[in-house]
Amino acid sequence: MVRIAVVDKDLCKPDKCNYECIRFCPINKSGRAKAIELGEDGKPIIYEDVCTGCGICIKKCPFGAIHIENLPEEVEEKLVHRYGENGFALYGLPIPKQGEVTGIIGRNGAGKSTSMKILVGLLKPNLGKEEATWDEILAKFKGTELFNYLKKLKDGKIKAAYKPQYVAQVTKVLKGEVGQLLKKADERGLFKDVVKELNLEHLLDRDVRKLSGGELQRFLIAAVIVKDADVYAFDEPTAYLDVKERMNAARAIRNLIPKSRYTLVIEHDLAVLDYVSDLVHIIYGVPGVYGIVSHPYGVRVGINHYIRGFLPAENMRIRDRPIVFKAPEARERVISTEKYLEWPELYKKLGSFELTVESGEAHRGEIVGILGPNGIGKTTFIKMLAGIIKPDKGELYTPQLKLAYKPQYVVPEMFKNFRTVRDVLRKVRRDFLDTSSWYYVEVIKRLGLNKMLDKEVKGLSGGELQKLAVAVALGMEADLYLFDEPSAFLDVEERLAVGNAIRHIVESQGVTAFVVDHDLVMMDLIADRVMVFRGEPGKRGHAHRPMSLREGMNLFLKDLGITFRRDADTGRPRVNKEGSKLDRMQKLSGEYYYT
Ligand code: SF4
Repeated sequence: MVRIAVVDKDLCKPDKCNYECIRFCPINKSGRAKAIELGEDGKPIIYEDVCTGCGICIKKCPFGAIHIENLPEEVEEKLVHRYGENGFALYGLPIPKQGEVTGIIGRNGAGKSTSMKILVGLLKPNLGKEEATWDEILAKFKGTELFNYLKKLKDGKIKAAYKPQYVAQVTKVLKGEVGQLLKKADERGLFKDVVKELNLEHLLDRDVRKLSGGELQRFLIAAVIVKDADVYAFDEPTAYLDVKERMNAARAIRNLIPKSRYTLVIEHDLAVLDYVSDLVHIIYGVPGVYGIVSHPYGVRVGINHYIRGFLPAENMRIRDRPIVFKAPEARERVISTEKYLEWPELYKKLGSFELTVESGEAHRGEIVGILGPNGIGKTTFIKMLAGIIKPDKGELYTPQLKLAYKPQYVVPEMFKNFRTVRDVLRKVRRDFLDTSSWYYVEVIKRLGLNKMLDKEVKGLSGGELQKLAVAVALGMEADLYLFDEPSAFLDVEERLAVGNAIRHIVESQGVTAFVVDHDLVMMDLIADRVMVFRGEPGKRGHAHRPMSLREGMNLFLKDLGITFRRDADTGRPRVNKEGSKLDRMQKLSGEYYYT
């Protein structure tokens, strides 16, 4: 076995712990050698070749800053990059293939962005040393499929066009109007095509710094596609986008990049990843500690292995249980017919935007999914349910129902009376740290909140705040659960965990949940029925009554011109390639969802 010890320097607070990790280490105590000692930065260094992996320092650290993992010996020779001594380690790299889209899937913090940065030449791999020469790097990859690619990268023969994960950072260096910038970037005469495909017409005169998250995302995808590059790389291209925009982005990536080039896509939305990729690599491991890149799998097979939680080529279990997609018919049978919530026709005017909602009802033990484009009134409806917005006509809010509500945008002020994550969670549930409880195992641990308990709320990133807000809502004892975009910023594993947790609560407590989300795989996993919002974004929205999943999805997908089928092995929904035989047949029969 190979031992890897990682000290999270952000979590480590030596001034508050009396160096117990160092004092209690049995190797140190024996006086024969030192396995752990203070480094120059005042934080511990663990010597992996001396450490026996007894785990005492892990238990002694009150902040959960130390991780020690034993990995199979054969992994060691795959070490590509390490962020310093006792830092995160990446083993292996995805393999770009000319003319194919290589998808990358895995947990946040497992090395997806690191691997992409290496392949676009932004990060030179160090092979676990302080620095590695190109000769050493090429020698390591000799005889592998990656050798030629890395040789070209070294020789400056790979020109990369790269969309980073965090789009907001780009506005710090970009100035000017969207149209102007796009024309300047256009090296392939594709200006008109990308503008049309990514619906940028109305934004061409807009200052790039005034774009919303979704608009900026679409602009940056376009700016990458118009480049004349050898490798096109997209790190999470669908964040902030609604379903239609996600599919447009996926289509643009598939159709507008020349077939002779390399394309890489990191994506957490499994339906989009499935649609856009030819091959996938799964990066598994322990977030923040190490990541191992799997063999390439054909996209269908690879995502199915991921769903089942087992990688056969690696003989590796990556999850303790498979994700189960139940056929809607099976689900509908278990829903109670007892009405839990009923509302008449509703109307609301907000500035120049108008929303009408058809009368409807929700049942006990049911999850109602809410689908529709951005700016169509979904959040307004959720806020009406929460009693935050009052309809101009009709009544919806039921004050006797106790609410748990995760708003769309989460800001630190929501938790302003608390200092740390621990303080927030303690207020929600006293037993939040009971390791035998469902809440700890399925929510706290799966969302990784157990590793950030002592972080200050005001210092949390957007993603960390989202996870906290989702966990708070899931931890509350309520009669009605409202989740507005719970999958935002979450990785694929966390999305599925949240989906399962919502389902568990609704089924075990016999309550009702409304969930707004753009991730159709997650929606398929949890929704019993759906409400479809249609209209003209920003102007008028019309919410249909809750319909069966099949009826609602059909209505929603017909507007988008997309058809879904079910995977024969796992039952997960898959987008049909446009114009394929199945796509045409399903459109003809009006079965947009699946046959
Ligand atoms: Fe020392 Fe055990 Fe920690 Fe290794 S795991 S540094 S041997 S206490």
